[in-house]
Amino acid sequence: MTDAEWQTALRMQIAEDEKFTIKKTGDGVVFTNYNVYSQHSKNSYKVALRSADNTLNFCSCSDYKTNLLGTCNTLRQFYYTSI
Ligand SMILES: [Zn+2]
Repeated sequence: MTDAEWQTALRMQIAEDEKFTIKKTGDGVVFTNYNVYSQHSKNSYKVALRSADNTLNFCSCSDYKTNLLGTCNTLRQFYYTSI
């Protein structure tokens, strides 16, 4: 397992444990904009969901900006939530 794979797996584990509230703010069916509220950090993040493989997605959280993985706990949450 590479470092990037390990970091991604770690974020999936955290996303499973953390409680998020996801609200759709765009017009699309699935690949659209969302506002995601983390009950853990008490912060809201803007998410642009654009691809199932995470290559075109965006999140406004600090983890996404700094980890260079193209994913974060917030984006991983979408794997555990039916929208
Ligand atoms: Zn995020």
